[in-house]
Amino acid sequence: MNNTIELLTEYSLKPNKALGQNFLIDEEAIDRIVSLAAEAGLPVLEIGPGLGALTFPLAGTGVKLAAVELDKALSEILAERLPENASVINRDFLKADLGNIHSLLGGGELTAIGNLPYYITSDIMMRLITSGLPIRRMVIMTQREAADRFTARPGDRNYVPLSVLSQRYFTVTAAFDLSPASYRPQPEVASRVTVFDRNGIGYDESFPRFLKCAFAMRRKTLANNLAALGVSRAEAAALIEKAGLSPSVRAEALGVDTLAGLCRSALETHAGNQDAR
Ligand code: SAM
Repeated sequence: MNNTIELLTEYSLKPNKALGQNFLIDEEAIDRIVSLAAEAGLPVLEIGPGLGALTFPLAGTGVKLAAVELDKALSEILAERLPENASVINRDFLKADLGNIHSLLGGGELTAIGNLPYYITSDIMMRLITSGLPIRRMVIMTQREAADRFTARPGDRNYVPLSVLSQRYFTVTAAFDLSPASYRPQPEVASRVTVFDRNGIGYDESFPRFLKCAFAMRRKTLANNLAALGVSRAEAAALIEKAGLSPSVRAEALGVDTLAGLCRSALETHAGNQDAR
């Protein structure tokens, strides 16, 4: 029997819907995900280990592993049963001290993995990408709709700041899809495993804020949205023109590299304005 099903029965546990507890019970999928995560041989940070569907087989490969789980009861079950190379941290991943966890994992490059709780998928992904942690690979399972955002292209309805950040710093590949039958309890929709491989581009701390402003109001032009960055309307128009773009362009029509270039120019303009004061 699957380990998760055994533990659910042994402890008479009722999965908590509010915490997005849809446990993976598909052994073939588990093997594929674990292989994708173990390939690099790096320490692993897991988000939301649940009853350890991925945690136990990954820890079994001998890698150092730290798993952050919000549910206290599940954390205690894992803590009792995990081998020495794996530890569970009972915290909200969005508030956990990532510096401490990084040290616990040896302070070097990492692999991140998670069958993410659907209600905070975007927030968790934003935190992983903008944390500054040297994550070389991420193997991430989400609902299909959320996964589509990771790979969305300019002009797509679901092309959002998270799409841009994902593709700016990682090569993003849709690995395979899973049907609701792979989970207990079954979710209503299909899921997807997405692999993110670091592409070597250095992280720019100002980029998330730039994107937040640039995409703030989808019906406004980029020039109007950039006002929130401390760049005047005329300056915004000038830097858009310098990039060879139409004055009425909207952020969602622009590719990842173009947006990164505009972010740099906007920052320089803003810095120039601060110096002039
Ligand atoms: N990894 C397990 C699996 O594949 O069977 C469980 C996946 S389940 C979709 C998501 C897990 O994330 C649950 O165990 C849930 O309790 C946990 N979780 C929910 N919110 C969390 C948060 N803010 N921080 C850490 N874990 C969280």
